[in-house]
Amino acid sequence: MMTVQQKLEILADAAKYDASCASSGAKRAGNGKGIGHSDGEGICHSYTPDGRCVSLLKILLTNFCTYDCVFCVNRVSSDIRRARFSPDEVVNLTLDFYKRNYIEGLFLSSGIIQSPDYTMEQLIAVAKTLRTVHHFGGYIHLKTIPGCDERLVREAGTWADRLSANIELPTQQDLVQLAPEKKAVVIEHTMEQIHVGKLEADEERKRTSLAPQFAPAGQSTQMVVGATASTDREIIGRASHLYGTYNLKRIYYTGFSPYQNADARLPLQASPRMREHRLYQADWLMRYYGFKAEEITTETDPALSLTEDPKTVWARTHPEFFPIDVNAAPKESLLRVPGIGYKNVERIVNIRRYHRLSLEDLRKLHVRLKSVSEFIIAADHLPSPTLVNSADTLKVAAPAAMQQLEMFAGFSALTGAV
Ligand code: SF4
Repeated sequence: MMTVQQKLEILADAAKYDASCASSGAKRAGNGKGIGHSDGEGICHSYTPDGRCVSLLKILLTNFCTYDCVFCVNRVSSDIRRARFSPDEVVNLTLDFYKRNYIEGLFLSSGIIQSPDYTMEQLIAVAKTLRTVHHFGGYIHLKTIPGCDERLVREAGTWADRLSANIELPTQQDLVQLAPEKKAVVIEHTMEQIHVGKLEADEERKRTSLAPQFAPAGQSTQMVVGATASTDREIIGRASHLYGTYNLKRIYYTGFSPYQNADARLPLQASPRMREHRLYQADWLMRYYGFKAEEITTETDPALSLTEDPKTVWARTHPEFFPIDVNAAPKESLLRVPGIGYKNVERIVNIRRYHRLSLEDLRKLHVRLKSVSEFIIAADHLPSPTLVNSADTLKVAAPAAMQQLEMFAGFSALTGAV
């Protein structure tokens, strides 16, 4: 008979492969009777050097699983030590760690035992007990088992701050190849149920604040990359579809890592860490910078560059768009300048209401001048004509850009700026 400590060693270790656990976005005030609260910013966040959130007690209910996803260490055919918590054991562990101030909440996932419905009922039992018996106000992220009954999705959303149904792999063909029991259409159906549940609850709460919340921190998902031949273009396109259709808060990309005695269908090499990083950058371009998925790569070059970030690559292949005048260009254009982040775009738009920005002003905003100078016009700066006209960088200054340059020349003459 295993002790709780022994189970914890196995099931906390088994959970580390699920990256979909950042606790951003939830706000739940303590009610003064129970314990804990969670806040939208800051206190629920703690990241390991490789970017993963560790402030939650992150465990599996069990690593037994009836499915045989080839890339997963918990698959039924895997020869590993298995363990299973009872819902009460997870409840007690969560409370215990919370009271010791080790964690701010719980991330609970599970292998699939008996059926999606049965597994989901077990996960819900943990969250429901924490909320209703112990009045736990901390953050709860529950994994949602694709294909479980809609009634269970609804109930899970009542108790959890965030739900996530993992898309697992970029395409249906990838699932056929490596996760034969899983179907993209079933996973997306569960995402749809979460999306609709949240929409309805949010509508209801506009009418009365007494209406119950449903997954107030929304839903996220995880995608393993590099286990199949799917390209970055396919991955980004898939991500764009999921964000647009189900209003996901986050997609987490996890580079595939090979393991001992792995199935022959899997690659022998780990996915480069930089690929994962570039996918996150591409993801941000879609969510915060107004880029469309199809702009980030091309049909002929569907892979993200490992040496340059995707925004810089886009800028270098679209010389007609530059240079951008930071004192006149619309926000949408500023967002496309490599080296200027979306927060700095807001600052630039605010500051230029009062005075024209120089390179020194940008430097004070911590803009990397080395990255941006070839793409912008500022009050005291024109990009080098050799760069603007260079055949291998910014080849041609398009008519609109030339107009900006002429206006700048006029302004320089008036002010004596150089
Ligand atoms: S269903 Fe989940 S836990 Fe089970 S083998 Fe597939 S990925 Fe692993």
